[in-house]
Amino acid sequence: MTVFSNPAFDNHERVLFCRDEPTGLCAIIAIHSTALGPAAGGTRLWRYASDDEALYDVLRLSQGMSFKNAMAGLKFGGGKAVIMKTAAFEASDALFERFGEFVDTLGGDYVTAEDVGMSVEIMETVARKTRYVSGLPLKSGKAGGDPSPKTAYGVYCGIEAAAKARLDRDHLAGLRVAVQGVGHVGYYLCKLLQEAGATLLVSDLDEARVDRVCAEFGAKRVPAAEILAADVDVLAPCALGAIVDEESIPGIRARIIAGGANNQLRTAEDGQRLAQAGILYAPDYVINAGGIINVACEYFGDVDDKGVTELVAQIGPRLAGIFEEAERTGEPTNAIADRQARKIIADAR
Ligand code: NAD
Repeated sequence: MTVFSNPAFDNHERVLFCRDEPTGLCAIIAIHSTALGPAAGGTRLWRYASDDEALYDVLRLSQGMSFKNAMAGLKFGGGKAVIMKTAAFEASDALFERFGEFVDTLGGDYVTAEDVGMSVEIMETVARKTRYVSGLPLKSGKAGGDPSPKTAYGVYCGIEAAAKARLDRDHLAGLRVAVQGVGHVGYYLCKLLQEAGATLLVSDLDEARVDRVCAEFGAKRVPAAEILAADVDVLAPCALGAIVDEESIPGIRARIIAGGANNQLRTAEDGQRLAQAGILYAPDYVINAGGIINVACEYFGDVDDKGVTELVAQIGPRLAGIFEEAERTGEPTNAIADRQARKIIADAR
């Protein structure tokens, strides 16, 4: 297992390998940068094929959090943790408490939250041993709770900005949008789009979720294998990552890709391919930052729920700036976002 020469290593400040034999805990915490503030990013509970795969994932995800937090204008650096579901893994309160103790040893340089495989209940167990946790149950009137509605609202604002930039549209009435994945984020996004008068095409592997958005928002069902090539104005990926690549791009008919999923591009070169194909891409970590903005406001406790919504709405103008620069320079939008994020972090150092 290589660390410093790992392809995902990007001058990370610290990597902590956490092992506790009695509970069976195997975890890695990666702090990419604390230049802007405590390194914040969720904990993923996942079965990895190898230690190498877990390390690669945590390094890549923590760098992504640095970029996301920087572009969202937050006083957060970037970090991430993975708890490995090894062959001997058994979930227990003791294991998650022990993980909390490891988080606590970092003295607030890393703030954790919920990610894939974790739950609010588990985060409450982690929080018994450390106060450096966000994403806990909502206290009335305060920011916090399920971040998905805020993520969806940010994506909605991003779609508005993209429709203005690429289609010269001031409103979304009549806009045709294909939403891939109608889970937490996709559901709330469909609700907002329907209220704005957009026409929805949706797919999900879970048919019950498709039934719900068809019934509630008049969406049209599309087979999962066909959604990427749907004849629409906007494709909104809200399911998995790595769905935009050399193979899928030639079939995409949408003129805009703007959705909530993380890591939508398989490689950075796919951003170039989209630009060449005349498809406007809203960089994923810029458009889907609504959830982390919610988490930051909960953690710092300085903004109420209404204030969070106002901060999330800034995603629209932020993307408009990136689209304008792409139009002017011909540079792919993902490259512009990466450069801006690196500059914000470097300036803070
Ligand atoms: P979710 O699990 O609630 O929903 C994802 C949905 O996608 C599920 O219903 C699943 O069945 C469906 N799906 C999976 N593969 C599919 C496929 N091939 N075709 C169609 N549907 C498919 O997850 P979520 O919280 O809504 O998150 C969605 C995406 O947004 C993820 O990539 C997540 O990392 C990202 N994201 C979420 C948030 C948040 O606030 N929840 C914040 C930032 C980014």
